[in-house]
Amino acid sequence: STNDSKSTSKKKVVAVVGGGLVGNLNACYFAKRGFQVEVFESREDILQAKIVKGRSINLVLSHRGRQTLKHVGMEDTIISKGIPMHSRMIHALNGTQSPIPYGKKGQYILSIDRANLNKELLSAAETYPNINLNFANKLLDWSTETGAMTFVRAEGAKEEIQADLIVGCDGAFSAIRKQFLRQSRFNYSQTYTPHGYLEFTMPPINGEFAMKPNNLHIWPRNTFMMIALPNLDKTFNCTLFMPFEEFEKVTTGDKVIEFFQKYFPDAIPLIGALLRGIFFRLPAQAMVSVKCSSYHFGDKCVLMGDAAHAMVPFYGQGMNAGFEDCLVFNEIMDQLKDFSAVLPEYTRVRVPDDLAMYNYVEVTYFILLTNSDVNSKWFLFRKYVDNFLHIIMPRTIIPLYTMVTFTRTRYHKVVKHWHWQDKVINQGLLFCAAVSVAGGSYLLQLWSRLQALKSPF
Ligand code: FAD
Repeated sequence: STNDSKSTSKKKVVAVVGGGLVGNLNACYFAKRGFQVEVFESREDILQAKIVKGRSINLVLSHRGRQTLKHVGMEDTIISKGIPMHSRMIHALNGTQSPIPYGKKGQYILSIDRANLNKELLSAAETYPNINLNFANKLLDWSTETGAMTFVRAEGAKEEIQADLIVGCDGAFSAIRKQFLRQSRFNYSQTYTPHGYLEFTMPPINGEFAMKPNNLHIWPRNTFMMIALPNLDKTFNCTLFMPFEEFEKVTTGDKVIEFFQKYFPDAIPLIGALLRGIFFRLPAQAMVSVKCSSYHFGDKCVLMGDAAHAMVPFYGQGMNAGFEDCLVFNEIMDQLKDFSAVLPEYTRVRVPDDLAMYNYVEVTYFILLTNSDVNSKWFLFRKYVDNFLHIIMPRTIIPLYTMVTFTRTRYHKVVKHWHWQDKVINQGLLFCAAVSVAGGSYLLQLWSRLQALKSPF
């Protein structure tokens, strides 16, 4: 480590703890700025390892993530291995499918293979001579006084390491964040959803995709839902989000079939022989949301990605927001060179933009996705109204999903604008309804008077 003068930032060492999606991309950002970067990852080198254990097989990549990849020259490589999804394909219980576009014509989100994305990010990191990748190095603890980090290696040996800046990218259960919890005025909360998720594969049929590939398929079923994202090998990765108590009821292969006959009959022939076993390969996984503030400790340590803000996956923003953290931090570094100024500024700018803070955004979207009753008809109607208004007033009325997914508008501004336009549109609709009721009753009165004039009596 170095204690050199602040102007010689090139010699400073940045330790990125956690070589997941955000950590590896972040390493490229710090390397590009000329720092010596040490990445410490508890797992083995996934470029060498056979089985990659991780969450969700594929992910939705959208604008914020793409912009972050673009800055380090990786956008095209990643997009070339993604599958564009232009609309949601809603599967009704009777098997009918209706597409709902994600945005305007030409706007789409991408289905990306998580393992491959991680490999591409690692390969990119390997091309920088000033990045060192240290696998099988698990952070045990670090000292807020000295900044020393203690790692344990695969063979059990412990080592102490110093750096000028520690970047905690070690995910929702961050070991770096543990030290923050001991500090006064640090806010922290973690919440598990009542829903778990289960993943399984829908194989190709006669070598082709079993369903239309350029859609994110959704089976909304009130309190739960199933989604399917396409993969390059023509399979679909299906995820069932459902309350744990519902999962617990499905205990045998026969019950799986019964369950699918009741809720997803059109998916039975598509999943085929694999269906019986899907509930028993792995248990349903839990989903956690984490909020905290601040994101930094002095000029020593900063949290990014899930370590700072884990959110439920319904909006497909966790990784995108984590990637955007790297971009925002980099933008601040452009203006303020010194870590003692950059870190508090990063907290000031980024904490209000934690989408997990706005639970209702995710909840609203979940209701939209899962409800098939009157509520969702209203949502659907509002969606059409919003889209129509967006076409005639593209700068004033922007659908929530569009702002989150296809722009870099700061999340807190998205939420503020959404509240404003929601109020305006609802008032407008109320006004239109009132005008048509008043107009209707006036015409009715006019008509009955005319009838009365015509009457012989
Ligand atoms: P992680 O991916 O968790 O990486 C953390 C890394 O740190 C890991 O490699 C881990 O091994 C390492 N590590 C942990 N502890 C230590 C330690 N003590 N020492 C050293 N290393 C350590 N996001 C989207 O944008 N779009 C989606 O469609 C989407 N879908 C999702 C679906 C599901 C089912 C789930 C669960 C999440 C989804 N997400 C999605 C969210 C996304 O997965 C996360 O936001 C993203 O993985 C966060 O990346 P990260 O690098 O911050 O953390």
